[in-house]
Amino acid sequence: MKTEVLQINSPTECAAALARAAAVLKKGGLVVFPTETVYGIGGIATSAEAAHAIYEAKGRPSDNPLIVHIANPREAEQYAVTNDTYYRLAAQFMPGPLTIILPKRNTVPDAVTGGLPTVALRVPAHPVAAALIRAVGEGIAAPSANLSGRPSPTTAAHVIGDLSGRVDMIIDGGECEVGLESTIISLDGDVATLLRPGAITADALACVCAEVKIASAVTELPGENERPLSPGMKYRHYAPRAALTLLNGAETEVTTYLKSLVGNKAVGILCYDEEIPLLQGAATLFPIGSRTDLETQAKRLFSLLREADNHPDCTMLFAHLPPREGLGLALYNRLIRAAAHTIQNV
Ligand code: AMP
Ligand code: MG
Repeated sequence: MKTEVLQINSPTECAAALARAAAVLKKGGLVVFPTETVYGIGGIATSAEAAHAIYEAKGRPSDNPLIVHIANPREAEQYAVTNDTYYRLAAQFMPGPLTIILPKRNTVPDAVTGGLPTVALRVPAHPVAAALIRAVGEGIAAPSANLSGRPSPTTAAHVIGDLSGRVDMIIDGGECEVGLESTIISLDGDVATLLRPGAITADALACVCAEVKIASAVTELPGENERPLSPGMKYRHYAPRAALTLLNGAETEVTTYLKSLVGNKAVGILCYDEEIPLLQGAATLFPIGSRTDLETQAKRLFSLLREADNHPDCTMLFAHLPPREGLGLALYNRLIRAAAHTIQNV
């Protein structure tokens, strides 16, 4: 299949290109589009065939369900059974990087939800994503636009590397603002369970929900026979080629430990910007942002994991263990999974 790459930065200036992308989707084709979190690989949400095509293009197990992207919170009525808490959360956080799991309606094929009786819904804030959904006139089912097991793509170049020849169209809308996938929650009345941490933090959700529980798989390795609340939790995601170790300890101790590694050219370090002058040597540095700037760290993480994968010498990777508060919890969750829970205390 030949993949067409379209540049769309402003939906108003590129209405004709968007109409073409919408036509591809309506015919059952696959279009990759930018969102504020990461790039998504989209197909029509009501089509089982499109869902199968997405799983095939990604090489994704078909029991790992897709998120349905809608243009405004009310459109959830077409696909799910909503409730008051959903609308209170929507008023606060939609459009934005929040995905809510609700009981599904029959309009959503089982292929989209991996056979689950629930559906994941999100209203993306990215103007190109929003305009594409409006142009199609119905929901778009879209997981992250990476090959299964690779880090989620935050630029069109990442997508082209993974999916060129496997999808009909890729819309290049520049770099994604957030860089980590959406926060996912399920609801039981007005109690939320955080299934995947993202830019909408547990503290922010607690301002609307009576309680926010954090699923154990967010921070812990799931037990051998445990059935995770979100199927995606059981897969080893975001795995770099190099063995990744997360370093836990006082900042000065961790920096001292990192200094001891810099003579080795097989070592790569996801270091803080402040550490760059301290860590000059044979090791390869992948600066992730300032120590306290979690937004920049989130934005750069997946891109750096891909850079490390492309680096010929780098077979051992080290990174700081992020704090578990705020946006740090999302970084923690992605990094412990990339590291297969390898944490070293220093
Ligand atoms: P991705 O967009 O690639 O991050 O994948 C979507 C994520 O949403 C996966 O981790 C899924 O497991 C999760 N997900 C989608 N639908 C549901 C659902 N109905 N219940 C729980 N998790 C879901
Ligand atoms: Mg994904």
